[in-house]
Amino acid sequence: MNYRQKNKTVQHCRAVCFDMDGVVLDSMHAHAQCWIDVFKEYGVHLNKLDIFKREGMTGLQSIADIFMDKGFAMPPEHILRDLQKKKLQLFSHYSIEVYPQIYSIFPFIKSKGIKIGIVTGSFRYLVLKLIPEELLQYVDVIISVDDVKNGKPDPDPYIEAVKKLQVSFEHVVVVENAPMGIQAAKAAGLFCIAISTTLGPSFLKEANVIVQDHNELAAYFQQCLS
Ligand SMILES: [Mg+2]
Repeated sequence: MNYRQKNKTVQHCRAVCFDMDGVVLDSMHAHAQCWIDVFKEYGVHLNKLDIFKREGMTGLQSIADIFMDKGFAMPPEHILRDLQKKKLQLFSHYSIEVYPQIYSIFPFIKSKGIKIGIVTGSFRYLVLKLIPEELLQYVDVIISVDDVKNGKPDPDPYIEAVKKLQVSFEHVVVVENAPMGIQAAKAAGLFCIAISTTLGPSFLKEANVIVQDHNELAAYFQQCLS
């Protein structure tokens, strides 16, 4: 990417909101594998792209959507809930790592007087369990699925984050890795950087900027905020 032109929105931002899975945490392959294993018990065969495309939907929504998409009848709600419970149990056995560059990106952003938010479709208990205290100390606001009525791709999670961060919408930058997260950020009127950790750039076109990986993300912030 050509960084010669500093982006003005990023340059003047007062807050950066990070999605969690696939952006802060290298967790999407584990999530996808858990869904693949659990759905297999119900005779539904999935690949990782089936999961990556739906990232951002709430667990129950994505379960229902997968059954329909694969030509199955919609199962009763208790089956959807069982499936979600099994998936969460399975996921709890995985050890999830933070992308190592986040350990320098968070303090760098903070050193510029810029606030940090985590905006995720995941549960608050998972945010607190999976993101180490060493990083949470830089985070001003957490918006999880527990905090909003409508999850991504609805703009609510980002609107709620901006309110709590007490900054104006034009001063907020979002980092997302999934199409529905990008849609949520754009619907809230926010500038969005997409990172191509799980999906190729063709899935991320709605974002304002696409970076290939965390090294490019770190370089982009360095360039714009220096
Ligand atoms: Mg994500």
